[in-house]
Order: sequence, then C-alpha cells, then structure tokens
Amino acid sequence: MTDIETELRVRRIENGTVIDHITAGKALNVLKILGLPDSSHGVVSVLINSHGEYGKKDVVKIENRELKVKEVDRIALIAPNATINIIRNFNVTSKNKVHIPSFVEDVVECINPNCISNSDEPITSKFKVDTENACLKLRCFYCGRVISENIAEQLL
Ligand SMILES: [Zn+2]
Repeated sequence: MTDIETELRVRRIENGTVIDHITAGKALNVLKILGLPDSSHGVVSVLINSHGEYGKKDVVKIENRELKVKEVDRIALIAPNATINIIRNFNVTSKNKVHIPSFVEDVVECINPNCISNSDEPITSKFKVDTENACLKLRCFYCGRVISENIAEQLL
C-alpha cells in the first residue's frame, strides 16, 4: 500500500458525506451522477477497490457537502448496495441505504438512436425503473426501449 492510499483510507472527514459500499469499480460513475468533482462542492476523495467486510468496494468521501438521501437515490442504479453516511463533527449522524427510484429523469440516455429523446428536440430523457426478478431494467418513457445492461455507460 502506498502512503497516499494509507492516508486516504484512514483520513476521516469533519463534515460531509461518505458514500460507502459502492460496487467495486463504480466510484467514478457515482461522481458522474452527482456532477462531481466540482470546485464548489468541497474536497472529494475516492477509494477504489477498498477491502470491505464483503469483498472489494469503492468509497467516495465528499467534504463539506451533505448529500440528501433522495439526491443519491439514482446512485442505486449502478451501486444498489451503497450506503450514505452524513458526517458532522467527525461523527456519523445518519446512515441510509440507497433506494432504487421508480422513475428517473435526465440521468441516462436512451439506447435507441431514433428515440425522440435523442433528437434535437428539447426533451428530457425519462425512464421507468423496473426491478422485477432482482434485475434492474430501465424502460424509456418515449419509445419503450429497455436498458438492462451496462447502465453506467448510458449515464448522461
Ligand atoms: Zn427512448
């Protein structure tokens, strides 16, 4: 382990949000969903392939910004086991699992190139989220096309 890795692993944040138990390798997609990093949102640190109790995971720490649970629900699309920890004064004041939303807007792009949401029209992408049989499916509100694999690659 390098010194930098050690420092990231042990470094606690005073105030902010820690997103833990992110599916290993998906941390950068989580940042993308949250529109991070952005200089106005404090310091972000990322641990990739950290050793957790249930195998490898990614962790994202965002200093001086408290993400609302609802704001990060969309993270569930690519990291269904993630937990959102709000930190105040070095203490975890709340810990919540992400929830898979039933509907997402302006998060993913339709895979159908002929879909009206991919045209030049000012139309926001909308998907109904279906979790039947423990398999996540996004059904386009406009054309009905279903995205069930590589959802991270369709992120806007
Ligand atoms: Zn579509």
